[in-house]
Amino acid sequence: TESFDEECDYLFKAVLIGDSAVGKSNLLSRFAKNEFCLESKPTIGVEFAYRNIRVGDKLIKAQIWDTAGQERAGSEPSQVRTTRGASALLVYDITRKSTFESLKKWLKEVREFGSRELVVVLVGNKSDLAQYREVNLEDGRSLAQLEDLSFMETSAKENLNVEEAFLQMITRIYQLSC
Ligand code: GDP
Ligand code: MG
Repeated sequence: TESFDEECDYLFKAVLIGDSAVGKSNLLSRFAKNEFCLESKPTIGVEFAYRNIRVGDKLIKAQIWDTAGQERAGSEPSQVRTTRGASALLVYDITRKSTFESLKKWLKEVREFGSRELVVVLVGNKSDLAQYREVNLEDGRSLAQLEDLSFMETSAKENLNVEEAFLQMITRIYQLSC
């Protein structure tokens, strides 16, 4: 595991948003700890997780919040440049259409408190449950195009595209702010 005070060049903060039970906590635990939990436990575990990522020759510390919670006063080294830019992984569940229909509301919310340089990656989670699919891949793709978001389907359970979704978000923040 990476230590908190490991030297890094940038600190980026991001938040996971979306309806309840779409898989936000499991996406985060998969990304941060490579763990998945089949039990549905609302709002358990970590509030946020860190992971250090190398982009080019820069070391980026990503601090990812499970829900839009209160930020804690800094445990970050002072030389780290903290960007204020909001970024989010906006998650829906491909087996529940209602979670897809909520996305407009979530987008409105995140854009209201977000900065100018807002990076949102749209994530259709639970791609392993394709036989119960209520939202087509094409629907996700067109919404992303319309709203100018990156998009991918993931499975926290099968560890499909999880790394890619987070990395896409982090790389885009990096490109915008550096
Ligand atoms: P949250 O409320 O958005 O944080 O959702 P959770 O991460 O707690 O997940 C809700 C439920 O969906 C749990 O029972 C998870 O095991 C399950 N879940 C999460 N991601 C996946 C996935 O990719 N595939 C499947 N089959 N189940 C998942
Ligand atoms: Mg949760």
